[in-house]
Amino acid sequence: MRITEGDLAALNRRFDGADPLDILRFTRATFGDRAAILSSMQRAGAVVCHLADRAGLAFDVVFVDTGVLHVETLATRDALAGSHRHLRVVTLQPERTFAQQTAEEGLLYLSKEGQERCCDLRKSAPLRAIRGRYDALLSALRRDEGGERAEVQAFSLDADMNALRIHPLAALPRESLDRYLADHPDVALNPLHSMGFPTIGCFPCTTPVRPDELERAGRWRHLAGVEYCGINPVDRAAEAAVDLDDALATRLLGPR
Ligand code: SF4
Repeated sequence: MRITEGDLAALNRRFDGADPLDILRFTRATFGDRAAILSSMQRAGAVVCHLADRAGLAFDVVFVDTGVLHVETLATRDALAGSHRHLRVVTLQPERTFAQQTAEEGLLYLSKEGQERCCDLRKSAPLRAIRGRYDALLSALRRDEGGERAEVQAFSLDADMNALRIHPLAALPRESLDRYLADHPDVALNPLHSMGFPTIGCFPCTTPVRPDELERAGRWRHLAGVEYCGINPVDRAAEAAVDLDDALATRLLGPR
């Protein structure tokens, strides 16, 4: 059955402002093993993983290792895998090492066009390679991040993956996220956050930010105008429709 963004309106009204755990439980009940958490081992994603694990929700955690991540990020992935016993970390990698890519195409991240290709090759392509494995990918985007994310809904679509993108923290304010982290010291928190990195990506394209800067000022600082890598459809303002199994679509949306 073909699903469009409009078909999700009632579902989004139903879950608007809902407890993130209710959205996680609904996702697990609806999609079972066909749903996974997509995490880059940043603060909000760590909270999604912690909520799911504490509730005994057995999700895969899909992590894309671009080959140029900070050692702290890889250590966070390993810590999460070791401490969240209900979750199973699945690491994806690009076809070529960064050294092979650079030998064949040069240092792509130094230009805006090159960055788009590099992010596609090293972040989006490994995910597309598992298209069909999952019908729903949970991620941790929040409206109060602003920019393209200011309108993010709990349920949206990803045509590239032919899957739902589900954002259980969409309506969660920053203060609530901070409170959760303060109350739960066992969240697998990337130590880079306490080293001046509000958001974290590949090390060549991520710097710390000053207190007077926007949170994402440290992402692609060397490339004016680049804010996102494109792995999240919300950041590309992509129109989308996906095809779901009829029984699954009925579980998700009710009889149509
Ligand atoms: S963030 Fe930089 S290094 Fe990482 S994939 Fe994108 S352009 Fe390449």
